[in-house]
Amino acid sequence: MAINEIFPEVHRFLAKPQQLFIGGQWTDSVSKQTFDVENPATQEVIAQVAKGGAADVDLAVDAANQAFKTWRYEIPATRAKLLYQLADLVEKHTEELAQILTLDNGKPLLYSRHECGGAAHILRYFAGFATKVEGRQVPVSGAPQGTFLNYTLRDPVGVCGFIVPWNFPLTMCIWKLAPAMAVGCTAILKPAEQTPLIAVRLMQLFQEAGFPAGVVNLVTGTGRDVGEPLSAHMQVNKVAFTGSTAVGKAIAQQATSNMKRVTLELGGKSPNIFLPDADLSKAIPGAAQAIFYNQGQVCTAGSRLYVHEKVLDEVLDGLCKQAQGMKIANGLDESSTMGPLVSERQYATVNRYIQQALAEGAELLTGGQRPTGFDQGYFLEPTIFLDREEKACIAKEEIFGPVLTVMSWSDTDELIERANNSIYGLAAGIWTQDLSQAHQIAAKLEAGSVWVNCYNVVDPVSPFGGYKQSGWGREMSHDVIEAYTETKNVCVNLY
Ligand code: NAP
Ligand code: MG
Repeated sequence: MAINEIFPEVHRFLAKPQQLFIGGQWTDSVSKQTFDVENPATQEVIAQVAKGGAADVDLAVDAANQAFKTWRYEIPATRAKLLYQLADLVEKHTEELAQILTLDNGKPLLYSRHECGGAAHILRYFAGFATKVEGRQVPVSGAPQGTFLNYTLRDPVGVCGFIVPWNFPLTMCIWKLAPAMAVGCTAILKPAEQTPLIAVRLMQLFQEAGFPAGVVNLVTGTGRDVGEPLSAHMQVNKVAFTGSTAVGKAIAQQATSNMKRVTLELGGKSPNIFLPDADLSKAIPGAAQAIFYNQGQVCTAGSRLYVHEKVLDEVLDGLCKQAQGMKIANGLDESSTMGPLVSERQYATVNRYIQQALAEGAELLTGGQRPTGFDQGYFLEPTIFLDREEKACIAKEEIFGPVLTVMSWSDTDELIERANNSIYGLAAGIWTQDLSQAHQIAAKLEAGSVWVNCYNVVDPVSPFGGYKQSGWGREMSHDVIEAYTETKNVCVNLY
């Protein structure tokens, strides 16, 4: 199928060097430097974006602090209305935003459209929260009834720094911005240097929706130049980060400068478990989607597949067919179900893991190569290894690419031990028709999300986050409201 024509408005957007958004103004970085943005399907430079630094972070933090003075007292219904308006704009511009996402990240248009639809949905979910940030009235325990009025309030935590990765360039911004805006925080956003474009376009939509100047600010640039000063900044009250565990640890340390609040959504090596009675007609495509969706660049990717030995052969056969049936193509091709990896660096990392797995004796069942017919772009075949005894590093380390490691099991207690034997604890999957067993296993898994007979069902009503080195705190759902508010107790003597 032919590659979609790029819309004229997208051409115009790409042609213009993109600036920082600070205090409601579009501005060059203090250094006037820019950096190139690459399309990973063609390796072409498609845009230039301002290269921010510590001086720009200072300006953005000043603007966010200034805006916080009034935004925190804005009528909750007004904050809700602005978020609804932003959701409408995201929806209205879905096709254009999807093209920008695909051009910058490489993912198939189908999934870019999902990301836009999901963003609008999440914005509306949190718009509803703007009017529902509630405290409690708690009778004091050491005095007669009616002598004290004792209650709690929830105050917005203040200026937030948001550092987001490249795998879901729009979703990750919205996960953080939507609840923060709802409760009256202000923000400085730093997108990943690989995928800054959608964040720029999102700022334009914030402006069009009518958010006051300085409530949300954008500083594009590298982790070192922008992420570090932002997470160390003395006037930033909270940092929320999604990305690698290594950088998450650095951010946690940087954030101690002023004891800012920290939430971290980090890596994973999630176990996906097939019981012997799983309905394989659903489990096999489910497991393939769990690892190959978004080219495997998903923190919850079901990258460790534990298959009961009774069904191993049938499952391996089915999984290979699923992998070979994927349509690898430029994401702008409507038939594409797998685009390129995001960058040369990520492509090199994943290939290194494949070579190491081969050297360590894992059995390559399918994939592992650049697909034929592709001489440009970071395309890689969906890859499946069998590593029965769980010896290779690909059974332990997060790869963040389309590489599945399959292992077999026979004893349930041992299975649970193996599944939990990871520094990570982000997600897990269970496929079975025995729901009683599914609940029992779910109760024992060390994972923030457990999906039974499904995978990656991520919804704003469900708390999302990890055990162990997969992070700190939870995003989404009403749980996240805690991360963006401080609890204040007010105790009034009524005499
Ligand atoms: P990363 O280094 O963790 O980057 C994520 C974000 O943090 C980017 O915006 C990055 O800026 C910024 N950053 C880097 N160093 C920083 C520092 N010292 N202080 C503050 N911010 C900093 O992720 P990556 O290098 O892009 O990918 C490497 C690995 O991370 C992947 O292979 C994967 O394992 C993992 N990862 C996980 C997720 C997830 O959803 N949990 C998402 C993406 C990647 P730059 O613009 O300089 O990169
Ligand atoms: Mg890019």
